[in-house]
Amino acid sequence: MLRSSGAAKRYRGRKAVARIRDRADEERRQLLARLPPGPAEAANLATVGIHCRWCDVRHLCSRYRAEAPRLWAIPRNDYPLPLDLWGEVADAPRRNESGEFSLRIRDDAGRQVAIIALGQRQPTLAANQPVIGSD
Ligand code: SF4
Repeated sequence: MLRSSGAAKRYRGRKAVARIRDRADEERRQLLARLPPGPAEAANLATVGIHCRWCDVRHLCSRYRAEAPRLWAIPRNDYPLPLDLWGEVADAPRRNESGEFSLRIRDDAGRQVAIIALGQRQPTLAANQPVIGSD
């Protein structure tokens, strides 16, 4: 059967879309097959790894929040962790002449972390106040 060039392109385009849709369906079926039957807790399905660096919900992820502080203390050469930090303000923040803040935090791994030159738009922080930050 002869097809015009435009019709042939549309035909190949529809076939390509069908192949992509079939592949996506198969990947979805394989992912669903790995899930336990019935309701599942998201925290039990999540796996902390390099992909957490690009995850937009890691500040809400109970698995990440539980495991990251333990991982902070271990030198890594397999993958970098996200540059997150949370804990409690250890000292009252100090403001320098240019209006920037510096403070120390005791993070959830028990480390003292110095944070310097926070902008003037940072909220007021008091000692022993919980904080969370990210890169
Ligand atoms: S932070 Fe995101 S990518 Fe990492 S385990 Fe939690 S949900 Fe998964």
